[in-house]
Amino acid sequence: MSGVGACPRCGEHSMMTPIEINALSRTTREASDAPAWVCSDCGMDEGLEDAFHTGATKQKFWPIERTFEFFIKETNLQSARLMNEVENEA
Ligand SMILES: [Zn+2]
Repeated sequence: MSGVGACPRCGEHSMMTPIEINALSRTTREASDAPAWVCSDCGMDEGLEDAFHTGATKQKFWPIERTFEFFIKETNLQSARLMNEVENEA
């Protein structure tokens, strides 16, 4: 891995290179904000926070535990199961 380091939001997942292929944090959507990049799970988490909460957790509260991690895991499990089913049919 390159020296991009861990995701600043969860402090856990490694970021991909180039940095632009990671998720652009929803905390940096204003024109005056400096862009911050987060891992794809955090990008999904922020999207869910935006949809079901009062918006994405602000950067001053980072690093945080992903609010919807259980939901993301479940979604990943479901897609993994789907892929297995497809493979088993082949
Ligand atoms: Zn993250």
